[in-house]
Amino acid sequence: MEISTPLTYVKGVGPARAKVLAEKGLATVEDLLAYAPFRYEDRTNVKRIAELAPGEVATVIAEVQSARLSGFQRRNLGMFEARFTDGSGHQLTAKWFHGGYLQNVIVAGDRIALYGKIEFDSYRGELQVLHPEFEILSEDSEQDASLHTGRIVPIYEAAGKITTRIFRNLIAFVLDNLPPLDDPIPPAILAPLKLPGRWTAVRSLHFPAEGSDLRLLNAFRSPAQYRLIFEEFFWLECGLALKRNRARLEPGIAFELNDRIRERIKQMLPFKPTGAQKRVLGEIARDMAQPHPMNRLLQGDVGSGKTLVAAEAAIIAIENGYQVAVLAPTEILATQHHAYFKSLLGKLDYVVAPLTGSQPAREKAQIKKLLAAGLARMVIGTHALLEQDVEFHRLGLAIVDEQHRFGVIQRLKLMKKGVHPDVLVMTATPIPRTLALTVYGDLDTSVIDELPPGRRPIRTSHVTEDRIEQVYSFLKRQVEAGRQAYIVYPVIEESETQAMKAAQKMHQHLSGIVFPDVAVGLLHGKLPSDEKDRVMESFKNGETKILVATTVIEVGVDVPNATVMVIEQAERFGLAQLHQLRGRVGRGGEQSYCILVTGKLNEAGQERIRTLKESSDGFYIAEMDLKLRGPGEFFGTKQSGLPALRIGNILRDRDVLELARNEALAFVNTPKDPEELRRAVDYIRNHWQRRYGLVQVG
Ligand code: ADP
Ligand code: MG
Repeated sequence: MEISTPLTYVKGVGPARAKVLAEKGLATVEDLLAYAPFRYEDRTNVKRIAELAPGEVATVIAEVQSARLSGFQRRNLGMFEARFTDGSGHQLTAKWFHGGYLQNVIVAGDRIALYGKIEFDSYRGELQVLHPEFEILSEDSEQDASLHTGRIVPIYEAAGKITTRIFRNLIAFVLDNLPPLDDPIPPAILAPLKLPGRWTAVRSLHFPAEGSDLRLLNAFRSPAQYRLIFEEFFWLECGLALKRNRARLEPGIAFELNDRIRERIKQMLPFKPTGAQKRVLGEIARDMAQPHPMNRLLQGDVGSGKTLVAAEAAIIAIENGYQVAVLAPTEILATQHHAYFKSLLGKLDYVVAPLTGSQPAREKAQIKKLLAAGLARMVIGTHALLEQDVEFHRLGLAIVDEQHRFGVIQRLKLMKKGVHPDVLVMTATPIPRTLALTVYGDLDTSVIDELPPGRRPIRTSHVTEDRIEQVYSFLKRQVEAGRQAYIVYPVIEESETQAMKAAQKMHQHLSGIVFPDVAVGLLHGKLPSDEKDRVMESFKNGETKILVATTVIEVGVDVPNATVMVIEQAERFGLAQLHQLRGRVGRGGEQSYCILVTGKLNEAGQERIRTLKESSDGFYIAEMDLKLRGPGEFFGTKQSGLPALRIGNILRDRDVLELARNEALAFVNTPKDPEELRRAVDYIRNHWQRRYGLVQVG
């Protein structure tokens, strides 16, 4: 047996089990060894029933005396009750609500390990345990039993019919039959950190040595777990560093930034850039001047003025004789960006063209011609830009807005339209550092951490639905004072239809009954795109006073006269998203307001609202959002580019990630032994590249 042996060839794994394992991503012996227990149970100290005390969490090994289901059996609502004895003269009752599924699982005569909190049932005057973890031991041979009891036992997440004990048996078998594993991490890195070797770590991950600290194990901080988490992050960060280095070596365009171009930029600028904008443009210009492709992430809170910086970069590219493409996630944003860039760059007599899916075919064809001939210097578009027949004369700079809505694939597709163009990725959702290090680890980062002057902090308040009338009278006063407002409905689970219906209904109600004398507009994703443009235009020029919308307006809409953002069903939005929406107001000199309307909130819900009321710092809010919802939800998409980690967890293990990253950077950038680095590159290629989607490492 080797580490690369397919699991099908392992004793105890037939085709059926192999299939289930494969669905879990477990194909080889190595995969199986990386399948970490999610919990450990101390069964060294198994209690007899007679020794149990109410309130303690304990493991009991006992025999089922009787088991029965009572209550609504057919609907599986019944309570399953099993009475246990262990020869100590006492009894313990275990209960499972909705326990119908246990009927043929736990039967009289079974020997079972139970783990749970012991309680005193005062009605019957005896001990009970509710919903204990359990494991049937009966079919064990004597030797097997020593695997499952009398020690600290690993608990694995079951996969179909493959229970935790089957995993335990399989892994024990593999560990017994495998020659010791080599350690791919150089000793010079492991030794100072006092990390155990790989073989030791893998074995104690699954079967912790006698006397191991259970609390450390369950906190994923035993030396073995720490080492394996470190290893996973170490290779990931090495891979990312190698990829960055490799990109830096590729030939690219060396854009010049001379006084003439500086003068052009000045001509275009409508205001004095903030200090942060200047610094960031400096970073970008320096990258652009290199004869290698730029790969830079531009982060900045909503309204921090990223678009202006992007426009400056665009001028550098255009003045050097190249074209610029801007990829935006929605038509509304593309249209608006187009208008914004056109107003800025039009002053310099560049042709700035839009390209979206909903344009008439003739118009699209015309624009494609202009692009191919190099007559259009800049194009702003949606996915339509990525189509095969969109060709550039000389694409020099690709800008991707709101990157987290696009995958790496789209970024690459756009890049392929030029010859090693520079790439600038912009995002208004501040990305917590740990995520930035993993998801965007192949990009250099610039942060605009300063808002343009004269902005007043937005006042955020919370109102429950039953007091919506107060919100309306507030809106009325604002409109009378000449301001404008948004009312937003959440799009739930990608279903725009429901949100659209809610928005339509509210639009009728508001325009017909609440504000009969006020122009109320309606905007949602299902509108034809010229209608969307018309609605947006009317709101922009101030004809429409109140805009009822679904989250289509989430990104990038810029109407400085809008001062009120009402968010309905705010409990359904993520924090980062609420912050984004809030950023649609507070863009002019007037005091702005964000009103979060919710139903009754539980503790967590109130915590979320508090976070928003108290902070306007996008990075802080993003961190909280990540903590509350986890990385997958945070990005809200499946192809978010999150690496598939096996044991590491970017929330729990951020300290390890930082450490691993520092070690990885030193290892890759200042290798003590080039041969060692060579071996590491091979190792990453063979073991991690596919997993982490690291295209072409080293
Ligand atoms: P972002 O894209 O980062 O959300 P924008 O580029 O849309 O921000 O800028 C937000 C608003 O601030 C826009 O109305 C823009 O014209 C304005 N703005 C940008 N930079 C400055 C500046 N240096 N001084 C004043 N206003 C600015
Ligand atoms: Mg923007």
